[in-house]
Amino acid sequence: MFILEISGLVLGSLSCCIGVDLLTQKILLDREEKRGVILEDIPSVCSLKSSNKKLYFDGVKDQFKFCIELFLIVLENNSNFDLNNFYSNFHKDCIVEKYKDSRVVLGSYYPFLNQIVLYNNQFMTIIFHELFHMATRDKRMGRLCVGFKYLKSSSDKSKQYIGDALNEGYTELLARRYFSDFGHVSSKNYEVLYMLASLIEFLVGKDFMENCYSKADLYSLIIHLTKFGTAEEIITIFKKMDRLLIEMKILVKEKRLLYRKRYKTYTEIMVLIAKLYARAMATCNNDSLGYYKKFGEVITKDIKYYEISGEDKKRIFDVMSEEYFKMKNDAVITDHKALNFVRNQTEKL
Ligand SMILES: [Zn+2]
Repeated sequence: MFILEISGLVLGSLSCCIGVDLLTQKILLDREEKRGVILEDIPSVCSLKSSNKKLYFDGVKDQFKFCIELFLIVLENNSNFDLNNFYSNFHKDCIVEKYKDSRVVLGSYYPFLNQIVLYNNQFMTIIFHELFHMATRDKRMGRLCVGFKYLKSSSDKSKQYIGDALNEGYTELLARRYFSDFGHVSSKNYEVLYMLASLIEFLVGKDFMENCYSKADLYSLIIHLTKFGTAEEIITIFKKMDRLLIEMKILVKEKRLLYRKRYKTYTEIMVLIAKLYARAMATCNNDSLGYYKKFGEVITKDIKYYEISGEDKKRIFDVMSEEYFKMKNDAVITDHKALNFVRNQTEKL
């Protein structure tokens, strides 16, 4: 089932995920891009929950109990993570083992069943990633939300999601941030989504983004990001990321064509994010250099299959500086340092 596949953390080849459902998903995305994207597709969080914070571990294997307790201790002490969804979703059968001879998918979180299934006994490498999915699942107005991933509507028979790729990238980011020292192994296949999620987080701040994610509050994230662009622009970025995730999983037979497509989608996303960063630089009172450095760090990162060519880097920096000047238009430019930095970097390329 497509939804179940897509929620899986894939560490090896993605070839197992070829399927008609992915193609259907891509066709739906194409249709939707023509229609335009709207903020009303995303429900806001109506009320804060307060749930019973007691967990009953009867029947839970000791090794899983250990992971869950570690997960809670680390997050309670280090982050701005709201754990109410975790306490609501926990049940004694929330982790099950179905070991099979597969090195491809090590484990998955099934949001409709609210269950983590482990397919491989090296569960410490992925269990924290999957626990994040479980800790961020919420049902609102008949719609299922998991972190930044939302079912499009309660009546959506296609089970189409938005925010899926941002959600995977950010889940991976948090698993690395908090659990790399406890056995979490970074997924190379999610590297590009991880980098894109880190660019979004830099714009809104770590505490705010972690908090929105834990409450499955994509709506507030978008509203916060409208400081740097319209809601339509922000949603377009997230939808293009979803497209990229689909392209990461389909048609592996035509590798060259597929890599070109992925690369094209990735550079389109980077152009859109460059505009957000340019506006952040132009409107912030300090540390515009920080924004530039963060963006530069990602665009120059050598990610397998996504290394941006010199020509495209120049094009993206041109868009960035053009947007920056547009924002600063007629205003006294006080931030010479950042401006000169952008100019120098652009000339170097
Ligand atoms: Zn995942």
